[in-house]
Amino acid sequence: MGQIINGREIATNIKEEIKSYVDKRIKEGKDIPQIASILVGNDGGSIYYMNSQEKVATSLGILFKRVELPEDTSKEELLNTIDKLNEDKKVHGIIIQLPLPKGIDEKEAVARIFPKKDIDCLTFESQGKLYMGEDGFLPCTPNSVVTLIKSLGINLSGKEAVVIGRSNIVGKPVAQLLLKENATVTICHSRTKDLKEVCKRADILVVAIGKPKFLDETYVKEGAVVIDVGTSSFEGKITGDVDFDKVIDKASYLTPVPGGVGALTTTLLIKNACKAAEEYED
Ligand code: NAP
Repeated sequence: MGQIINGREIATNIKEEIKSYVDKRIKEGKDIPQIASILVGNDGGSIYYMNSQEKVATSLGILFKRVELPEDTSKEELLNTIDKLNEDKKVHGIIIQLPLPKGIDEKEAVARIFPKKDIDCLTFESQGKLYMGEDGFLPCTPNSVVTLIKSLGINLSGKEAVVIGRSNIVGKPVAQLLLKENATVTICHSRTKDLKEVCKRADILVVAIGKPKFLDETYVKEGAVVIDVGTSSFEGKITGDVDFDKVIDKASYLTPVPGGVGALTTTLLIKNACKAAEEYED
């Protein structure tokens, strides 16, 4: 039987580091790291994420500024708001809750954030740094995947890693971070032929497709580490892409949903805000 990777426990350790960092800044008389989170309209998922980010941030002593704009905000008004936050020396990180209402180009809005405040790693500059292997903010969900694997003490160098999913938010950056750790990486997607055969080669299998319980034990090599990024609503519950009960006996390690990848992402976002504050002084 494989072991469950506990994302909440790993998040707790990182939260302790963040708390100590904030305490140290206060003792040194430095600004407390501050995140500004922009919400346009009333999207239920966005409100949920914003509330939970605020709760975690404030519990760690980080300042969290809610910038709530009405549904009918124009593009110009939103861009002006971003400009003001870019110029605000007390704000270290800016997040835009997505999706934005129809009629506002998300790419244009995100591109307006100063890269040094882009703690969600969404601007072209942040992504460019990621793909060039340069130091910058790490995207939170992909960083969560790699942090969970590394917490097992596994050296990824030379390991066969397969990522299912090629989105800009998850699949591609996960593959990039695994490559940075010297894994041999294959990216699969909806047109991949013989998906099962490719997956069965994997020492590390990351699944990010958004199809509840898609992956069963027939895709998994004995002893593989399986990381489930999926979060779909299924029969009234948040459910991963992996059929947990079928895969746990074959994998060496498996992340649960909830309590795996998602349990760490907000903490890693806040860690990025601390990095932004730290680098601001330089
Ligand atoms: P997405 O943009 O819809 O991308 C899904 C990817 O899966 C696409 O590349 C698609 O291939 C591929 N795919 C779909 N069906 C497939 C199949 N049957 N076989 C092989 N590949 C298939 O989704 P996303 O934004 O990457 O998110 C993926 C999942 O992760 C979702 O459940 C999302 O809610 C979850 N998520 C979780 C977190 C977290 O913190 N835990 C954060 C972000 C996302 P094509 O490119 O060929 O269409």
